[in-house]
Amino acid sequence: MSKQTRSRTGLRVVTIDGPSGGGKSTVSRKVAAELGYTYLDTGAMYRAVAFGCEQAGVDVENETAVVALLDKLHIKLLPAASGGDDVRVFLNGEDISTAVRTPEMGMLASKVSAFQPVRSKLTAMQQEMGESGNLVAEGRDTGTIVFPDALWKFYLDAAPEERARRRVEQLRQKGQQVDEGALLAQIIKRDQDDRERTIAPLTKAEDAVLIDSSRLSADEVVARMLKVIRKQKKRYHPPPGMIPLL
Ligand code: C5P
Repeated sequence: MSKQTRSRTGLRVVTIDGPSGGGKSTVSRKVAAELGYTYLDTGAMYRAVAFGCEQAGVDVENETAVVALLDKLHIKLLPAASGGDDVRVFLNGEDISTAVRTPEMGMLASKVSAFQPVRSKLTAMQQEMGESGNLVAEGRDTGTIVFPDALWKFYLDAAPEERARRRVEQLRQKGQQVDEGALLAQIIKRDQDDRERTIAPLTKAEDAVLIDSSRLSADEVVARMLKVIRKQKKRYHPPPGMIPLL
């Protein structure tokens, strides 16, 4: 890792973890736009693996079969053209951006994400993307496993009912019809699986700032995060002769 990507205290990366539907994507995109950083949607990568399995007819619960397929899956993320859009996701050259963003693909992604070889491959890709810093990474383990040295860490939570309501709204805006009750059940199950898995479980990093977004708008959450980030940036004074990296 180059010296330029690290300050004396850590890596110039913002991590935003938390359960599904807590508003992480919207908030992460906005924080990245405000700071001029790149936005990394790590969930999209797990969804791409799940999509690859489905396309190849591989059972997502069969670790041996999933791992055998892994080397044939070439995942690429492209930053959104405009700040408001989703990141584009490509699998073996095919644009699967829309296809991966369904509740079903979220459930399948949660299954494949429990396998160590899948996590190792995607974690290495994510760390490579963060090597030069200036990144906002969003996911479940970005503050604990992927970027433990990140300078700014957040854990975004909200009541399950509120998260389900927001997800339904988001999907309806994209023209997808969803049953709110079924989606709430899916969200609760997926979070439970993500929290209880043995490898890289969903958990708050000790040094992450917890924000409960149940009663906050996305802009209010963004404002809180930027306040924390800017306060810490101000506190950082490089030693004489060292170039300020923040
Ligand atoms: O964030 P998103 O809903 O797209 O994530 C889909 C699934 O991918 C999650 O439920 C989780 O199981 C998995 N995931 C993960 N680690 C990450 C990001 C996502 O295990 N850093």
